[in-house]
Amino acid sequence: MKTRPGICQKKRRFATREAAEAVAVAADTPLRAYKCALCKAFHLTSRTKGLRVPRGVDGDAASDRA
Ligand SMILES: [Zn+2]
Repeated sequence: MKTRPGICQKKRRFATREAAEAVAVAADTPLRAYKCALCKAFHLTSRTKGLRVPRGVDGDAASDRA
């Protein structure tokens, strides 16, 4: 999965996974921390489906390119 530059710049950036996950657990929505390939920092995503799941990416991949 590639992170697009626009997404990277808009998202909050965390220096460590721990920092990102600390925010994730405090949020009302399920968030997931992931390392960004562009800025090497961590971002949070609410898209828990399809992330790091090679198989069963049903609606996620499709909506991503729509
Ligand atoms: Zn980034």
